[in-house]
Amino acid sequence: MGFHSMKVANRKRILVTGGAGFLGSHLCERLLDEGADVLCVDNLYSGTRDNISHLLTNPHFEFQRHDVTFPIYLEIDEIYNLACPASPVHYQRDPVQTTKTSVHGSINMLGLAKRTGARIFQASTSEIYGDPEVHPQTEDYWGRVNPIGVRSCYDEGKRCAETLFFDYNRQHGLEIKVARIFNTYGPRMHPNDGRVVSNFIVQALQGKDITIYGDGLQTRSFCYVDDLIEGIVRLMASPADLTGPINLGNPSEFTIRELAEAVLELVGGGSKLIYRPLPHDDPKQRQPDISLARTELDWVPEIPLKVGLQKTIAYFRDL
Ligand code: NAD
Ligand code: UDP
Ligand code: UDP
Repeated sequence: MGFHSMKVANRKRILVTGGAGFLGSHLCERLLDEGADVLCVDNLYSGTRDNISHLLTNPHFEFQRHDVTFPIYLEIDEIYNLACPASPVHYQRDPVQTTKTSVHGSINMLGLAKRTGARIFQASTSEIYGDPEVHPQTEDYWGRVNPIGVRSCYDEGKRCAETLFFDYNRQHGLEIKVARIFNTYGPRMHPNDGRVVSNFIVQALQGKDITIYGDGLQTRSFCYVDDLIEGIVRLMASPADLTGPINLGNPSEFTIRELAEAVLELVGGGSKLIYRPLPHDDPKQRQPDISLARTELDWVPEIPLKVGLQKTIAYFRDL
């Protein structure tokens, strides 16, 4: 492998930070399939070795346990920066570390990209928009984010990361690719990270009550992981002047109650819907406007909710 030494043949050397997480592990798999040498860097804060255990025997895959808030020196051609806990339960467990991961982590990865000339992708988020007054959200909307609330470590950390990416682009000419990812689900979501899709599926499979927060009329738009990875890879391969930010997500919008009903119907069993208080700063509506991705990347999600849910349910059943 050539991450510390000379580049071998013409394989691209790609660094994926957060590669042992839900999205990162799928991305590593996809990049290996395309013939790259993949270095997965992860401190296993919210990711697991199990997510990548099937890749460890691949000679073109390497795992390094490392925290991106500390510098790292490698020779690479591309960086996908996904390191950051994504679910509220995880990112609120150590909120200071969450902000550090987005801010210091981005600075280190941008410094690495600057030294190596690597193109760099940032996994930004729809949380940039906060609890939005504009619906659906387009990339030119600046958002409505609480700077001092319990979600702020994640939201403001990610906003500052975007600032850093655009300043490294303007000041140092780095090739940046910033995607604002909307709610994504699929196999390898953490079974108890508190996200709605994994919660509902696990509850339904165990015959427990399905916990709807608030009245369940808040909406989200759920993108299946394979669709999202396709969008990320297309963005990375796009012309240099396409920096983003660009929304990636599935525009089909559902209420949380509709999601609960869909999961119940697919899993079967006798779980009841129960209602719990709505968490602080919980956005009421969220739906991406993906016109930009449609025109610039010729990308639209193809996997309908029920199909994606079936694949995800199958994963959790086997667990
Ligand atoms: P995840 O928690 O499964 O993965 C994040 C990974 O980053 C984990 O493996 C974790 O151990 C690692 N990590 C955290 N802090 C780190 C650090 N300081 N150094 C090294 N590694 C660190 O979450 P995910 O859903 O796979 O999200 C991946 C990325 O995509 C995150 O940046 C997240 O903000 C972004 N994103 C995800 C979604 C979604 O719906 N899943 C939506 C918007 C944005
Ligand atoms: N950095 C790194 N790997 C590298 C190059 C830089 O981790 O290969 C880190 C380094 O620790 C630095 C940060 O990235 O703090 C930002 O680098 P940059 O060159 O932009 O800034 P400077 O080194 O001038 O602070
Ligand atoms: N939610 C819910 N029950 C759960 C978990 C989440 O009703 O068991 C709701 C949550 O309040 C939010 C939506 O589902 O309105 C999506 O929550 P998630 O944490 O998955 O993502 P995010 O809020 O970051 O979009």
